[in-house]
Amino acid sequence: MMTDVMTPEQRHHCMSSIRSRDTRPEVTVRRYLWQHGYRYRLYKKELPGRPDIVLSRLRTVIFINGCFWHGHECHRRFPKTNRDFWLRKIERNRERDRDVAARLRQMGWNVITIWECELAKVRRDETLERLITTLRAFETEPKAPSPYSFPEADTELAAEAELEWGE
Ligand SMILES: [Zn+2]
Repeated sequence: MMTDVMTPEQRHHCMSSIRSRDTRPEVTVRRYLWQHGYRYRLYKKELPGRPDIVLSRLRTVIFINGCFWHGHECHRRFPKTNRDFWLRKIERNRERDRDVAARLRQMGWNVITIWECELAKVRRDETLERLITTLRAFETEPKAPSPYSFPEADTELAAEAELEWGE
């Protein structure tokens, strides 16, 4: 049992860092969706993988993935010490991500993944515009394939080039 020595403010700060919710990339996407008239729920707990954003009407979930933890191919630098440990850990995360996406799709959800690097300043506008285009396609045709899809099979860290937003 932990001794309670933190002030409520400290504890709040601590909890927020542990849960890493309300991170800046997420807020960026949420704000943009809101400005474009999309209403959403956050981290719906009963859904696999606790998606970051849930658009129930469009039966669409959005994951905003950190490139390091989720093994995006843009992120080639690993800590020098315990490199194998990190590689294995990240590979497990990738497997879990694929499993979660497959389960959600089976439940009839559209799954969109946005990578952190796609929200870097130089790419942000393009990324967000493409997100809206995709959502509009879901409005008219709820089962339209998403350009954000996870690859179904490959497990090589380097083999994810096709994840890059198509064309
Ligand atoms: Zn990335």
